[in-house]
Amino acid sequence: MLIVFEGVEGSGKTTQIQRSRDWFLSSGILDTLGNYHKPPPVIITREPGGTALGIKLRQLLLQEQSSSLQHRTELLLYAADRSQHVEELLQPQLDAGAIILCDRYTDSTIAYQGYGRGIDLALIEQINHIATGGLESDLTLWLDVDVTIGLQRARERGVADRMEQAELTFHQRVQQGFAQLASQHPQRIVRIDANQSPEAVQRDIQAVLRQRI
Ligand code: C5P
Ligand code: MG
Repeated sequence: MLIVFEGVEGSGKTTQIQRSRDWFLSSGILDTLGNYHKPPPVIITREPGGTALGIKLRQLLLQEQSSSLQHRTELLLYAADRSQHVEELLQPQLDAGAIILCDRYTDSTIAYQGYGRGIDLALIEQINHIATGGLESDLTLWLDVDVTIGLQRARERGVADRMEQAELTFHQRVQQGFAQLASQHPQRIVRIDANQSPEAVQRDIQAVLRQRI
């Protein structure tokens, strides 16, 4: 099962992914009849940067000098990271029965490169399809945080990467992108109010996971 966490900067994806893994591993071991079940492997990964090649692409994409990156080049580098990730890690692990918790996936490309950068959405969908080979998430949790709160959190955390330094209106467009996607895919994408405390966000996530799994 592929579970994706999406959201703007500072939405708390990393924290919530770790807590969700802990919850998965501590729950569901006894079924309703009291039989013991070994929990499936739970794998945490992210985009960009889920493979060895991806780590290099991530450095390239996030370091400051790459501000000269053309928008379509950026799009293709994210796509390269994704196709490697799908083939090397996601698909084999899904085939082996793992639960994958993935920090960002195709919706980030639509939100950032589409709504944020202004690249044609139909073109992005084609590239997403090429990169994923058609692999879609089973569930996407959109951690919806107020853009200014999120950026504040991201900045408190330390050195801002190339995107975190982008202007506010860019992040607001990205946010609109996630909102559009959530309304277009109400079954796949579930909105979580990420302005709440980490504990409250995790409680809401667990409620969704319990329902969906
Ligand atoms: O989620 P995380 O902050 O680790 O993502 C790394 C960075 O990559 C983010 O700052 C995000 O803005 C950027 N990004 C992007 N386009 C994507 C995916 C991520 O600009 N498609
Ligand atoms: Mg970031």
